[in-house]
Parts: sequence; structure tokens; C-alpha cells
Amino acid sequence: MGTHEEDLPGLASALRAAVRGDVDFSATARALATMDASNYRRVPAGTVAPRDADDVAAVLEVCRAHGTTPVVARGAGTSIGGQATGTGVVLDLTRHMGGIVSLDPEARTAVVRPGLVLDRLRDAARPTG
Ligand SMILES: Cc1cc2nc3c(=O)[nH]c(=O)nc-3n(C[C@H](O)[C@H](O)[C@H](O)COP(=O)(O)OP(=O)(O)OC[C@H]3O[C@@H](n4cnc5c(N)ncnc54)[C@H](O)[C@@H]3O)c2cc1C
Repeated sequence: MGTHEEDLPGLASALRAAVRGDVDFSATARALATMDASNYRRVPAGTVAPRDADDVAAVLEVCRAHGTTPVVARGAGTSIGGQATGTGVVLDLTRHMGGIVSLDPEARTAVVRPGLVLDRLRDAARPTG
């Protein structure tokens, strides 16, 4: 299900009231999220850059209440199948949710937030081998 243009102001203000992160329904933000690395094009209702997991949960709750607005998670947007585009809300996980939570060289594990760029993880892990 898509989101009608006339519903966008209500959706945007409900999101602004619910999240601490950035809600951007401007023409520029929508245009930037229209494509990924594929040939597909979908104009989203708007974008949200959540601050944390609570923000992600709040977005899902608001979108569920607004006629089951679709939500798409987006990282670098390098999907070559159009999966990082959608007609509802695009979650930009790179702006505030790209950190490393913990690195354990002994166990050779890392806990990262969902927008982390792989090179940053490699740089952080390199000194410990
Ligand atoms: C030139 C090129 C070569 C490639 N070669 C390979 C290859 O050799 N091997 C390979 O495996 N892949 C390859 N890919 C695919 C690409 O690496 C993957 O699409 C990439 O890992 C997606 O990561 P992203 O952060 O850019 O996600 P996006 O492109 O932003 O999203 C991809 C999908 O994951 C979802 N998503 C994004 N973030 C999250 C999240 N935090 N939680 C839940 N869902 C999320 C999106 O909704 C979408 O469905 C290639 C892509 C390109 C452009």
C-alpha cells in the first residue's frame, strides 16, 4: 500500500511528535531516497533518520496507525534489486545509527549498530589483529 500525497502532512507531524531523530518530508529528501544502486525508482512519503532503537519502534508504531504505511530500512543504498526504495517511510540508519557498540578480540566478535560502514569496523578491529 502506498501513501497518498494528501496524507503526508499528517504522517510527518505524527512522526515528528514521536521520534527524537530527523523527520524530512521535503522534496529533496524524497528525491534522494528515490533510488538505490538498481534501476528501480520509487518516490517515498518521506525519510526518518532515527536516533536509536526506540525511534525505530516509534516509526513502526506511527506507520502502522497511518493505514499500514510501508517502512524500508536503508543503509548505504547499495542494493542492486531496489530493496532500499519504497513508497512509504525510508529509515536512514546511517546518520545516527552507525556506531560500534563493542569489539571483543578474544571472541572475535563485534556488536554494531545497523548503519555502520564496514570500513569503519575494519579500521577499529585492525589494531587488535
Ligand atoms: C557493485 C555492487 C556489487 C555487489 N556485490 C555483491 C557481492 O559480491 N556480494 C553480496 O553479497 N552483495 C553484493 N552487492 C549487494 C550489496 O552489497 C548489498 O546490497 C549491501 O550489502 C546492502 O547494504 P546497504 O547497507 O547498502 O543496504 P541497502 O541497500 O540500504 O538495503 C538493502 C536491503 O536491506 C534492508 N536493510 C538495510 N539496512 C537494514 C537494517 N539495518 N535492518 C534490516 N534491513 C535492512 C533494506 O530495506 C533493503 O531491503 C553488490 C552491490 C553492488 C552495488
